Amino acid sequence: MSFERKKILVLGAGYAGLSTVTKLQKLLSVQEADITLINKNEYHYESTWLHETAAGSMNWEDGVYPIAKVVDNMKVRFVPAEVTKIDRDNKVVQTNQGEFDFDILVVSLGFESESFGIEGMDEYAETIVSPQSAVKAREEIEKNFINYKTSQDKRDLAILVGGAGFTGVEFLGELVETLPELCKAHGIDYNDVKITCVEAMPTMLPMFSDELTQHAVDFLEKRGVEFMLGTAIVAANDKGFVVKVNDQEQQIEASSVIWTAGVRGSKLMEESFEGVKRGRIVVNNDLTIDGYDNIYAIGDVAAVMNGTGKDARPYPTTAQIAMQLGEHTAKNIKLSLDGDKKEPFVYDDKGTVCSLGSKDGIGVVMGKEIKGKPAAFMKKVIDTRAVFKIGGLALAATKGKFM
Ligand code: NAD
Repeated sequence: MSFERKKILVLGAGYAGLSTVTKLQKLLSVQEADITLINKNEYHYESTWLHETAAGSMNWEDGVYPIAKVVDNMKVRFVPAEVTKIDRDNKVVQTNQGEFDFDILVVSLGFESESFGIEGMDEYAETIVSPQSAVKAREEIEKNFINYKTSQDKRDLAILVGGAGFTGVEFLGELVETLPELCKAHGIDYNDVKITCVEAMPTMLPMFSDELTQHAVDFLEKRGVEFMLGTAIVAANDKGFVVKVNDQEQQIEASSVIWTAGVRGSKLMEESFEGVKRGRIVVNNDLTIDGYDNIYAIGDVAAVMNGTGKDARPYPTTAQIAMQLGEHTAKNIKLSLDGDKKEPFVYDDKGTVCSLGSKDGIGVVMGKEIKGKPAAFMKKVIDTRAVFKIGGLALAATKGKFM
């Protein structure tokens, strides 16, 4: 048992960081540790709800809450600051608000958009990676629709979505629900709207069965979405996307262009650690990084391997796993402070749901496939559970999704 008060520093208040801190404040006494949480915003945002803001079905304010609301200020000092450098050997983190030293560090700096160096993507496409970018995507669509009334240019009613991963498909599901309303408000015929989703792989959402994927495709196509599967986007420009079909480049034109085809962990990871790929570092099974048993990397900056040896693959970076990683990190910190052996992380996969707007979806929950209304219901349960797990009943009562 250690009687020295250890300095624990947690970087980032996404799902992983906030889960760590809210669990730590339950497990540790003020005498045991001095806990500091650093995050660039004063608020936490529900990154899995951003597609709703981007499509206009949720105000961005509804998907955020003040971090101060969920941290116990008797035990945790919250500092709004931007991390600029991690010096792991000198045990110091630099921020735009000064330096912070640590005994134990939890790096949970989250994700950012990744354009894979595709020419023009950063410049011409909107993304869905923060409340600000989601609002911008929505404003862009709305601006172009309003513009159509004077331009009568059909490209102003054309929307291109790059990538049919979870974010792309959930965004499309929300769009087909909100765009008819937007059209009505501006006297536009919805039949004139063209939504095209370009996906490099020949199939989408490979983690689901063909039946579930087909349900999503049918749902979206019936509402006007056109899929271009097996088609890679090779550039973005002021006209839209340039795609490659049968080795031939083609320009697809649209005024609204949204890139949902890539995320990576924070760029600070490459600057701070070795062996980082796309902002993610492979962690040991106790969630620490190699050679540093006092530094944990969790959430979207971590590659947590499923299995061992050459068949091992990283788990996908989901909110569900990020929250479990946060709780496990807190437990391991407590064990290490007590002088006990840390425990390996074991993922408890409760299932995944991909929403298709507010009334439909596809998913696998407790090993059972679901689609339609039950999936939409489960998605709301999952979203409400996430706020409850971090902020308890009080937060769930204000931010939960109760239909
Ligand atoms: P993703 O990487 O999972 O999907 C991106 C898609 O874009 C892929 O299908 C890929 O083939 C395609 N793509 C990549 N480059 C392309 C190109 N040049 N041209 C055309 N298509 C291209 O990204 P995501 O959807 O943002 O998801 C990120 C992570 O977050 C994943 O692990 C996902 O499981 C998770 N997530 C989960 C949920 C949920 O559980 N409901 C929701 C959102 C995100």
